[in-house]
Amino acid sequence: MTGAAARLAAAGVESPRVDAELLLAHALGVPRARLITLDDVADTARFESLLEQRVARVPLQHLTGRAAFRHLELSVGPGVFVPRPETEQIAGWVLDRVADLATPVVVDLGTGSGAIALAVAGEHPGAQVTAVERDADAIAWTRLNADARAAAGDTPVTVLAGDMTDPQLLRDLDGTVDVVVSNPPYVPDDARLPREVADHDPPLALWGGPDGLDVVRGLLHTAARLLRPGGLLAIEHADAQGTSLPALVRSHGGFTDVADHPDLAGRPRYTTAQSQKR
Ligand code: GLN
Repeated sequence: MTGAAARLAAAGVESPRVDAELLLAHALGVPRARLITLDDVADTARFESLLEQRVARVPLQHLTGRAAFRHLELSVGPGVFVPRPETEQIAGWVLDRVADLATPVVVDLGTGSGAIALAVAGEHPGAQVTAVERDADAIAWTRLNADARAAAGDTPVTVLAGDMTDPQLLRDLDGTVDVVVSNPPYVPDDARLPREVADHDPPLALWGGPDGLDVVRGLLHTAARLLRPGGLLAIEHADAQGTSLPALVRSHGGFTDVADHPDLAGRPRYTTAQSQKR
């Protein structure tokens, strides 16, 4: 079994031991904590098949079908962007900022698996959350996760098929939204992504044009219209966009208190702003 971890390590997997354990637990249908030590457990054909796929850099989360995000265990697979740990923080920022509101109206643009929307709804029972997704394959996963969380007792999230840059999107919420949050596609066209990202996350969730900010430009128009005066905007971005995205928000006009925030690794990760009080 140390053999399994070694094979993953040789394939360049970042956390070979953990991945091997999670795949073995998945193959055996037991929680990871039940594995006393991997060296004691006989390999199974199912485990071997999972291991081979992981060596070929299929994302761990596609093999287990699950992705952890804050308190959630989301269903994921081909067709939907696997939520990343660094995005947990922007959800936390939103939750901090709406903690004192009884029924905050929150819109998650480009929700994918539903990670941010469902985390907010799960951690703030009064939140009225709408999750928007344009990708027909991805939104099947959004709906699956939203249904599962509602069945588990969380306040239901409204899932809407639509493009965040559509000027007609969510017209009925114009001027009423407390927070617009998004992890948009922001990867610049010339960036090189790791194989497991480029080959398995949906292109629509990744690529953002020459400077990576094409989708964000449309998003800003939608957000400016949806937000109530004093409402808040939070947008995730790439490491290299810690100056360009705040500058874009400032030059768009209508926003104050533009700030940028690092992730836990200290890299610039999300920009926040407040819609001008009229
Ligand atoms: N952070 C993502 C990555 O690791 C990109 C996400 C995005 O474009 N929203 O590739």
